[in-house]
Amino acid sequence: MKETVDVVVIGGGAAGCFAAIQAGTHFPGARIVILERGIKPLAKVKISGGGRCNVTNSVSDPTELSANYPRGERFLRKAFYSFSSAHMIQWLNDRGIELREYPDGCLFPITNDSQTIIDCFLNELKKLKIPLHLESRVDTVQQIESGWEVSTPTRVITCKSVILTVGGQPKISGFQLLNQLDLKIVSPIPSLFTFNMPNEPIRELMGVVTENASVRIVGEKWSTSGPLLITHWGMSGPAVLKCSAFGARILEEKGYRTPISVNWTGVLKQDDVRAALVEWKSSNKKLLNTPLFQIKSRLWTYLLSKCELHEDLRWSELGNRQENKLIEVLINDLYQMEGKTTFKEEFVTAGGIDLAEIEVKTMQSKRYRGLFFAGEVMDIDGVTGGFNFQAAWTTAAIAGKSVLLNQMEEK
Ligand SMILES: Cc1cc2nc3c(=O)[nH]c(=O)nc-3n(C[C@H](O)[C@H](O)[C@H](O)COP(=O)(O)OP(=O)(O)OC[C@H]3O[C@@H](n4cnc5c(N)ncnc54)[C@H](O)[C@@H]3O)c2cc1C
Repeated sequence: MKETVDVVVIGGGAAGCFAAIQAGTHFPGARIVILERGIKPLAKVKISGGGRCNVTNSVSDPTELSANYPRGERFLRKAFYSFSSAHMIQWLNDRGIELREYPDGCLFPITNDSQTIIDCFLNELKKLKIPLHLESRVDTVQQIESGWEVSTPTRVITCKSVILTVGGQPKISGFQLLNQLDLKIVSPIPSLFTFNMPNEPIRELMGVVTENASVRIVGEKWSTSGPLLITHWGMSGPAVLKCSAFGARILEEKGYRTPISVNWTGVLKQDDVRAALVEWKSSNKKLLNTPLFQIKSRLWTYLLSKCELHEDLRWSELGNRQENKLIEVLINDLYQMEGKTTFKEEFVTAGGIDLAEIEVKTMQSKRYRGLFFAGEVMDIDGVTGGFNFQAAWTTAAIAGKSVLLNQMEEK
């Protein structure tokens, strides 16, 4: 079957559906189709956030928001001025979707059901008369004289512009569709995973959460902070997931085997901790009974025994060497990472189309006019908290409203 339309959107996921809606809204009357290889649209939205869809985050200032992206920070900072989380929240509110904000800024539909977002998107596509063809895997995308030609096993569609939103690919071979185009691809690697520490006795404390810890890959100057959860295989929680995302390339180079330093006090330095201990040193209380820095008592007991401090020791009896050892363990406690585990709630791949290939103002390829990108296919990924969807909404909104501008200029 040979067809001609204005825009073909490849991929019916979060970015594809939103880009099509934006294109349909900005270019009324344009003929737009979505080609999705799967049997259901928006499949990842369905399972996202444990079926509740953490749709975005309340952080909306472009600088603050973009700090949550280990890859794509500078690119997105500019893009967020055009379409930020506040725009997405408004867009959903305008369509009757209320969101609930959690203390960490994560926003979920008030229904606690990702289907709410899916229904909203499908409804908008219907209103705009944009067909979404399922089981339509695109095999080739070719530039032709009149624009682009997109082929599936059963259709050949010519169009003025293409928006490519095929999502993240765990392997470089997943970018086969782009082979004909000679675009620079940053090789994909995992991001957002937890740390395996099979030989660390701390695993016996599984279930213990420290509300504010910092995690650092030994040898690196930066660290990531937040809650840290001890698991039966090692460590997890936001501080660790952020470390896995910002350290994705470093950890991959190290084969996921490296010492990890934990600061159980959060971001306190040696002198701050020493100053905090001063008032205790005249106390007759036992160290064991007075956990500091909001450290849970099971963990506190573990840390004291790691410092070889006797359980009957009182603060007033703490010697200088013992104090130094305690401070060291509190702020620079070393653990050996020996592998990673995929975080079941949300996993993403770092890597994708090199951002140097893409114009941030339009999401158009710098080399191939009429070819646009949105979502995880680009070398962009965020930490947990609704940031990955926000990158999809932002890039899709910009691609959608730019997709036929070239054609209008040419007329
Ligand atoms: C389990 C899980 C939970 C998550 N939860 C959250 C969350 O709560 N909040 C958050 O911000 N992020 C979350 N994420 C990340 C988020 O889902 C992704 O960042 C987002 O879906 C990316 O959107 P996308 O449209 O770029 O890619 P996708 O959603 O992956 O969509 C790409 C689409 O393209 C289709 N496609 C691929 N190749 C072709 C082809 N050749 N022809 C036609 N179609 C094709 C695919 O079938 C797919 O439907 C989660 C991810 C996972 C895996």
